[in-house]
Amino acid sequence: MLAMTYRGPYRVRVMGKPDPQIEHPGDAIVRVTRACICGSDLHLYHGLVPDTRVGQTFGHEFVGVIEEVGAEVESLRQGDRVLIPFNIFCGQCYFCKKGLYGNCHNTNPNATAAGGIYGYSHTTGGYDGGQAEYVRVPFADAAAIPIPDEVDDDNAALCTDAFPTGYQGAEMAGIKRGDTVLVFGAGPIGLFAARSAWFMGAGRVMVVDEYDYRLEFARKFAQCETFNFRHVNDAVWHLKKEADWLGWDCAIDCVGAEAKGSMVQYITGVRLKLQAGAATALYWAIDSVRKGGVVSIIGVYGPTANMVPIGNVVNKGLTLRANQASVKRNVPRCLEHIKAGHINPKDVITHRIPLEEIAEGYHIFSSKLDGCIKPMVIPPGAS
Ligand SMILES: [Zn+2]
Ligand SMILES: [Zn+2]
Repeated sequence: MLAMTYRGPYRVRVMGKPDPQIEHPGDAIVRVTRACICGSDLHLYHGLVPDTRVGQTFGHEFVGVIEEVGAEVESLRQGDRVLIPFNIFCGQCYFCKKGLYGNCHNTNPNATAAGGIYGYSHTTGGYDGGQAEYVRVPFADAAAIPIPDEVDDDNAALCTDAFPTGYQGAEMAGIKRGDTVLVFGAGPIGLFAARSAWFMGAGRVMVVDEYDYRLEFARKFAQCETFNFRHVNDAVWHLKKEADWLGWDCAIDCVGAEAKGSMVQYITGVRLKLQAGAATALYWAIDSVRKGGVVSIIGVYGPTANMVPIGNVVNKGLTLRANQASVKRNVPRCLEHIKAGHINPKDVITHRIPLEEIAEGYHIFSSKLDGCIKPMVIPPGAS
């Protein structure tokens, strides 16, 4: 089969690879019909995630058709259209039973904090991902979610991560009717967090980013206010001024470890790796909410320490909530919003790239060229 293959930082290519095989009777093989490149794939592409091995196939956002099932798979058969959450989870352990699918205890042999993730380095289990023609799906009965007939593959692909992840970012912010909500990051997660904040009763939503084209997209897609921190010296000062100097009720960090905006954070986190990436967005989130407010962290951070003003959290009496999204838990509500016509997630797709040209897709997305918001990858043979 053809598969995207990591060769080293800023180098990916499409190569022939052996087709994945059923390795356990609970596995299924999915023929991929749509995959996306995620902002978090760029952390891998930039060489920022430890133990990213040459030869791995990335891709944790994919949908497709069941090609083959193992002997113990009961709920799926060949030809079923399925969406696969980016988390790899068993569905049976203590954490899965609590709906914490992103924290499954059985799918990541290399760490206990987070469960497995498709195509996301050996720190999340070393599984090959779905930027390929075929992919192996472990615990297929638990993992695969049938795609309703009225939901197309493009919209379903955005329900494997971006939409349910943004949704959970908003949910963890504990939005109450009329709340003011600040969203850091105008990438797909931030866009879906902003839309979801309205679903949850927000009274005001503002998205923060450094790129005018992304903020313009956010204004259209999420009917929100926007703020470009590149246009000011002190982002927090301006954000507090916007909120009557008291601060915002909630803030959602949809940026994570590669934040811009602070040279100190960037050099220590991204260049020297003295901390787990640059925590600038989280820092600003903590300082921009009001006393007693909530900060929700859905952006990606590694396990090591970050320079975060924990004293401000304590003294302002903030609530911090964080997790990897548990996609399976949120997908039913996301599908309901799609079916009800509240949202058309595929509106965020700006580029459709044949799998054979995926290297160009990574380059465009990484370099923020050509107005890129979300690239979708189409394997050969998928219509
Ligand atoms: Zn993703
Ligand atoms: Zn589990």
